[in-house]
Order: sequence, then structure tokens, then C-alpha cells
Amino acid sequence: MFKKLSRAALGAAVPHDKATSGMQTVTMPLPSKLVLCMQQHIGAPCTPVVKKGDHVDVGTVVGKAPSVVSADIHSGVSGTVMGIETVQYPTGGVVQAVVIEPDGQQTIAANIKKPSVTNYESFIQAVRDCGLVGLGGAGFPTAVKLSPKNLQQVDTLVINGAECESYLTADNREFLEHSDTILSGIKAVMEYLQIQKCCIGIERNKPEAMDLMFSLIKDEPAIKVVPLPSRYPQGAEKVLIERTVGREVPRGGLPSDVGVIVLNVTTVSTIGKYLQTGMPLTTKRVTVEGDAVAKPQNVEVIIGTPLEEVLEFCGGTKVQAAKVITGGPMMGTAQVSLQFPVLKQNNGLLVLSEKSAHLPAAQPCIRCGRCISACPMGLSPVEIANAYNRKDTHALDKMMVDLCIACGTCAYVCPAKRPVSQTMALAKDYLKRKGGEK
Ligand code: SF4
Ligand code: SF4
Repeated sequence: MFKKLSRAALGAAVPHDKATSGMQTVTMPLPSKLVLCMQQHIGAPCTPVVKKGDHVDVGTVVGKAPSVVSADIHSGVSGTVMGIETVQYPTGGVVQAVVIEPDGQQTIAANIKKPSVTNYESFIQAVRDCGLVGLGGAGFPTAVKLSPKNLQQVDTLVINGAECESYLTADNREFLEHSDTILSGIKAVMEYLQIQKCCIGIERNKPEAMDLMFSLIKDEPAIKVVPLPSRYPQGAEKVLIERTVGREVPRGGLPSDVGVIVLNVTTVSTIGKYLQTGMPLTTKRVTVEGDAVAKPQNVEVIIGTPLEEVLEFCGGTKVQAAKVITGGPMMGTAQVSLQFPVLKQNNGLLVLSEKSAHLPAAQPCIRCGRCISACPMGLSPVEIANAYNRKDTHALDKMMVDLCIACGTCAYVCPAKRPVSQTMALAKDYLKRKGGEK
């Protein structure tokens, strides 16, 4: 049995705080070094294919995908490989990284040329050669996403332009600065995957982006723009599918099970760019924000640039920083070091003061039920937390904790400031280890 998402897909009215949405993206100069982690995607880590002392150009493959669920990693600078190092990974653990010193020439690799795409197979190969992963934060290899087993049953492409997290405006800038490649990327996916319809979901708090896309698709009957309510988390894949095409992804299922493929707007735009130029994914727009940042802005950054240099480019901090987060405040990852590099899937760098980052002490649950009414997946977080505390596997399975998307809405709305979403993550992991997840 699957609970209706629409029952509680209201989510929460998080503050927008999108002060950078009207600012043109600024391109950052070359960093002092690139640190290219070999894990910048969901799936197997890449294998370094360069060694210390090698010369690389812009677009040279430095990490090769060892399996289908992975994505090649390319250098965004020309320069010299300083070494293959083991570095701490931004989400914990350690990973190999190719460290490159730029030579300042930005020489383009000789093999970079517009790809020849004539059919489905050559299109998927092009997406693979681009090294593309979900740029909205998920990091799932795009070529894999575009190759579902039941492709013939997919009739709708959904473009995720919700950007529902506070602070983040990188996708909004993609709409305003690269609407041409968004459209050409959408048309390419529809053509080569034989998908009949496309829905572009955009939150209503982006009126300029919505107006622009409405005007661009006015003669494209197969493509429509779907305004979304400005309530977090409209961009969660299952919520977005429900909102845009009215279909419910079943428990344990994938979007393709209901005839849908979802791509983030910057991801599909990158497909459009790659088909025009053949330049793989080497740069990323990052929203640098937070009340400790001297000059918040959207910055086009070469992937692998240390966070410290990105922050310096934005004027450093104007007050003492208490917390650094990559991604948004709801689903992002707190960082312990600014030495970490920008990864493909990073779309935000938030630097917060003590005042903003302070978390009040958790109080006893008052059983108000707000976490239940706000959960976009229709779950009962407070009851799941109780079941987890009892280590009641049967109840966790029955209450479908595996459907939790870790959006953090339950913790955000909790008046007792309980760490509800953290408990959901523990409960989900517990159920998985016990083999209860469907
Ligand atoms: S929102 Fe917080 S206080 Fe209210 S029921 Fe849920 S856990 Fe308890
Ligand atoms: S973190 Fe999980 S349980 Fe909490 S609101 Fe999001 S989906 Fe629901």
C-alpha cells in the first residue's frame, strides 16, 4: 500500500532568502590548484588515469569511470598533475584525488570537438562522455538516468526548476542566462529518447524565469511550464512528479515506473551546451551565500576549486563564521574544512554566523503532529521515531520509513526543535540493515 503524497505534500514555508537571484553570474579566475575527487557522483569511484608530472589540458579525462554507474572526471584547467592524493571526502571518509597546478594557459584538449549524435546510442554516449551527473545535488550519472529498462513506457520528461531550498539561486540564473541551451537540451532528450511531452516545473518565486520560459515555449505544444507553489520541498523528485504530472511513484519504484524521467534544469542545459561544443562538465555555478559572507553572489567555478578560494573570491567573511554548508540549509552537508573542493553536484556554499547557525536545545515532544502534517511523503515522523527507539522493525516497515527523502521538513516545523529528520535517517538505515526495506 502506498500513501497518497497529495495528502500532505504541503511541506513547509521556508524563508526564500534569495537575494542573489537578480545578480548576473560572475566567473571566478583560475584557482591556485584543482583537487579533483574521484568520487563526484553516486556509483563507483573513478580510477585516476594520469600520474604525477603529466600535463593535462582543459577537458582531459583525469578519472575514468570503472563501471556503468559512474561518470568520467575531466580537468577544468591546463597544467601539471602534482600528484594523486588521498583526501578527506566532503561527506565523510577518504577518497583519491588528482591534484593539478594550473599553467594559466587554459589550453583546450585536442580531442574536444562537437559530438556526432545521430541516434539514441550516440546520444547516450555523448552524455556519458560529458561526465554529466545530476547537478541539482543528487549526483546520479545522467547517462544511466536516461537509460531506464522500460524506456518505451516513458512518455514525459520533467524538468526540475523548483530550486526550493532557501538561499540557492544557481538554477534560477541558469534559466535567465542559458534558456537557449535549456531548450535545446530538452529537445535533444525528447528527440533521442522518443519522449512525447515535457513539463518544466518552476516555483512561483521565480517570476522572471517563468515568464521567460512561457514565452520561449509558446510555439512548442509538447512542452509546458508548470508553476509550483513556493513551498519546500517542491523539488523533491517524487513530489515534483506528483505536482507536474499527477502520478505517484510506488514504494521502492523509480520515476520511470510511472513513465517519467526527471532532470534538473542545469543538467539538461549542460546537455544542450555539450552537444554544441563537446566541452565536458568542468565548471559549476555555485551560490555563495549566508550572513557571514562579505559579497554573496553566484560564481561560475572550475570543479575542484578549494572552497576556501571560492569564499576568498567573494570577499571572505564579514563576521566570524560558525558553520559552512555545501548545498542548501535543509539538505546540504555541513563541512569541517574549507580545504574541500567544489564537486560536480555542489550548487551552494553557505557560510553562517553563530546567530544563524545556532540550534536551540531539543525539548520533549508535545505530540502536536506538525511533523506528520508537513511531511511531503505522508509519513508519521513522530511515530517512526518512537518505533525506532523501540527498535521495532515491523512497525518501521509498516510505516514505510524507507520512503523518507531526508528533506528535513519535519525537523524544520517541529516546535520542540527535536532532531526528527536525523532520527528518520537512523531509522531508515536500521530498517535497511534489518532487510525490511521494500
Ligand atoms: S512536530 Fe515535534 S513536537 Fe510535534 S509531534 Fe512531531 S516531533 Fe513531536
Ligand atoms: S525528512 Fe523524511 S520524515 Fe521528515 S519530512 Fe522529510 S520525508 Fe518526511
